[in-house]
Amino acid sequence: MTVTTDRPVSPPRTPRTGRRRQDEPWTPAQLRIAVLGAVIGTVLLVVSWVAAGRTADVDNQLTWLSVAIVGFLIFASGGGALLLHGHRAVLHRWVVFLESEPAPVRVTERQADTGWVRVDGTRRAHRPDCQLVRGKRVAPTADAEIEERNLLRCEVCAG
Ligand SMILES: [Zn+2]
Repeated sequence: MTVTTDRPVSPPRTPRTGRRRQDEPWTPAQLRIAVLGAVIGTVLLVVSWVAAGRTADVDNQLTWLSVAIVGFLIFASGGGALLLHGHRAVLHRWVVFLESEPAPVRVTERQADTGWVRVDGTRRAHRPDCQLVRGKRVAPTADAEIEERNLLRCEVCAG
């Protein structure tokens, strides 16, 4: 017997944080590779530092310097690949966010009257149709409240 459902299948959640895997910029395998690179690179740096310090022979010191350079490159490439992949993931999500349809924002008459809304706990007032508050729970904010509480007006929508 096959059971079908119209509900979309959500991606698996990570065991520790409970967040969806697609919410995280790196896969566990990428993190393991970066950590492994950091460990190997650090070990090579420490070993070459200690070994170079125990010899007075310049040729030996240059050899250990080469080992240290390789260790640094392994260390940096693991972290660099992680940063590069994270940067790509953030850019991809930014494009998806910009191309997505704006969520309908319910604007009450009171909000429309004041012309400003604010996400609770923030210091920035936005226009009700601002991209930065779409889909968020907002509260109407009067001009007097903005002045009185020394709130900031959003640079994106108030411009
Ligand atoms: Zn805004």
